[in-house]
Amino acid sequence: MSKKIIIVKSPKKLNNIIQKFKSKRKKIGLVPTMGALHKGHISLINKARKENDVVIVSIFVNPTQFAPNEDYNSYPRTFKQDKIKCVESGVDIIFLPAVNSIYPDGYKTYVEVKEMSDLLCGKFRPGHFKGVATIVLKLFNITMPDTAYFGLKDYQQYIIIKKLSEDLNLNIKIRGCPIIREKDGLAMSSRNKYLNKTERNDAVLLYKSLITARNLVLYQKIKDASLLKKEIKKILLKGKSIKSSNIDYIAVINPKTLQEVKKINNDVVIALAVYVGKARLIDNIYVRKRDKG
Ligand code: AMP
Repeated sequence: MSKKIIIVKSPKKLNNIIQKFKSKRKKIGLVPTMGALHKGHISLINKARKENDVVIVSIFVNPTQFAPNEDYNSYPRTFKQDKIKCVESGVDIIFLPAVNSIYPDGYKTYVEVKEMSDLLCGKFRPGHFKGVATIVLKLFNITMPDTAYFGLKDYQQYIIIKKLSEDLNLNIKIRGCPIIREKDGLAMSSRNKYLNKTERNDAVLLYKSLITARNLVLYQKIKDASLLKKEIKKILLKGKSIKSSNIDYIAVINPKTLQEVKKINNDVVIALAVYVGKARLIDNIYVRKRDKG
């Protein structure tokens, strides 16, 4: 597409630009992010680049998905570096709205995917997925994408957005993209920046515990979810900076409904959320019962 990256702050202006592309039947791909871009985000951008004529990356730290006690203010904001990464990976448009252009004074409207939003992270972050669903729907309305790209790292978010799109007849393809990890297995995350050295060492235990659990299911034929969760917890607690109270949840869930399962007879996702220092880290692994290795 165009050679020079376009940075647009105004939702209306962006919508006008997109209308023009749509009238020329260009395929639009959207990658919603909160910035502090890393290789996980770039993998989404690369996929979007391959499948679309126009690639839009939105960078917006969305206040409505943070609770008052959470890290909205300290969340890393690194636009200069983000812009370079976007240019390097062939992004056409960065959408960089100000908070008051998305939520002007007197803003009132929210969408919510019921039930699914109260499970897992939703239990510990009330209102989080309502904020997520609302901003994503707004981004969809502004950018009118053919396809939107989401990381499977935020598995619950991916399922909720798929449901939103289906329930509201959005006619947007929702693509789930694989989790990109550091060499030692830690899932890449903008929040990894919060980790000190000890915490960074401990953080790898999330992935290690998930791999162990997966192997127990596949090779030791363990079917009891509670046994699995105990094993995961044991591994997590090996971390100097991880105590029982740091673990928000460890869950073995049905990949489609997000409901917890007790006996593992079919595919499951094993998901967890753990505070390592200030960083609330999430990770998951999809266990296909037919997997061998
Ligand atoms: P965020 O900026 O954290 O809101 O993430 C924006 C998008 O990037 C979401 O769809 C995330 O799931 C995705 N993402 C974040 N980290 C990763 C990762 N390590 N691998 C793949 N996708 C990711």
